[in-house]
Amino acid sequence: MSFIKQTALSIGFDACGIAKAQELSADAIFMQTWLSEGKQGEMSYLNRNFEKRIDPRILVPGCKSVVVLLMNYYPKDAQVQGLPKIAKYAHSEIDYHTIIKAKLKEFETLIVSEYGKDSINPDFQHSFVDSAPVLERRWAQLAGLGWIGKHTQLIAPNIGSYCFIAVLMLNIELEYDKPLPDRCGTCNKCVVACPTKALDGKSLDARRCISYLTIEKKNTVDLEFQKLLSNCILGCDICADVCPWNKKWAKHHNHKELKPVDEIFNWKNDDWDNLTSEIFNQTFKSSAIKRAGFNKLSENIQLFKKNNLKTE
Ligand code: SF4
Ligand code: SF4
Repeated sequence: MSFIKQTALSIGFDACGIAKAQELSADAIFMQTWLSEGKQGEMSYLNRNFEKRIDPRILVPGCKSVVVLLMNYYPKDAQVQGLPKIAKYAHSEIDYHTIIKAKLKEFETLIVSEYGKDSINPDFQHSFVDSAPVLERRWAQLAGLGWIGKHTQLIAPNIGSYCFIAVLMLNIELEYDKPLPDRCGTCNKCVVACPTKALDGKSLDARRCISYLTIEKKNTVDLEFQKLLSNCILGCDICADVCPWNKKWAKHHNHKELKPVDEIFNWKNDDWDNLTSEIFNQTFKSSAIKRAGFNKLSENIQLFKKNNLKTE
């Protein structure tokens, strides 16, 4: 195993692959159409930095290799059915951005000590976790770590799709991995299971996706989707939960850093309903949930309440 892959595993990533830096021409065409159809909704940042997004050599001058890292977050504890649901990625006390940034820093230091200071471009941001115009899933696929399923997430052999993706751009040539074939085949379970019909088998219409509606959308969830939130108050795992590859491969992570927020499992409906900004700020002070903001989460809790009152 190469120094880079060994190092990645030794500091706690679950998989590492490497792809040659190149222009993502097919993704550029796909994204242009997707954006022109307005499927990004209110996420206007996706319209910006288009050139950088499709070519890492423009994002990071001198970039030759894209190192992709995965970290499994599939949690051991499950929430009680029927209570407000929080997507699994946000169960940890500490926001995954914080955890992964620290790991990337350590990884980079070890790489520089092995390959020299010219292996990175210090003048430009070169390590990323959901923080810049980088098509992480495509790079993970090109780096041989899995394929992009019809639910538009990466599916990694022996891990599944409950994994964070981090990227480090290096200015050195390395040995590159071969992409894996798509193994969705004729399966269509995620497309069928999606309550809001956000998937068409090829792309995601973010405007219809519960993850977008409960986190990214600044305004109130559109009336047509309010009844379809399926008890989700932050994010959605429905398409991932039905995927046969997750059933086969997803195993509980053993990352101590991803220790969960107890309240997600202990709180009853009343606790969520009585959430104040003070309790929110205290309970979720370091968590990814805080990013959604108190007002957005409160609105989602009220929609949960409304939906459940109606069905009682
Ligand atoms: S996350 Fe939920 S709403 Fe979004 S595509 Fe998957 S099932 Fe549909
Ligand atoms: S549910 Fe089926 S179609 Fe969807 S991502 Fe999984 S294997 Fe692919």
